[in-house]
Amino acid sequence: MAFLVAIDKNACSNCKICLDTCEKGVFAVNSKGEIYVSNPSNCVGCWKCFNSCLCNAILIRPKG
Ligand code: SF4
Ligand code: SF4
Repeated sequence: MAFLVAIDKNACSNCKICLDTCEKGVFAVNSKGEIYVSNPSNCVGCWKCFNSCLCNAILIRPKG
């Protein structure tokens, strides 16, 4: 199953907890030092990032 992964930039504090939590390398940091969703197709829907984000800024949704 594929998943849609998104970060609500208005809610995100850029703490990067999700970067360390995701074992599938879905998140990365851009040249400005901001977290972003770089490899959404790697997501296996484990919800670890969702559950660890203190800002409720991550959206995970099954695709299709
Ligand atoms: S864990 Fe949440 S608040 Fe922290 S960088 Fe990731 S999306 Fe943003
Ligand atoms: S749900 Fe799991 S695999 Fe998907 S982005 Fe979050 S931590 Fe990574």
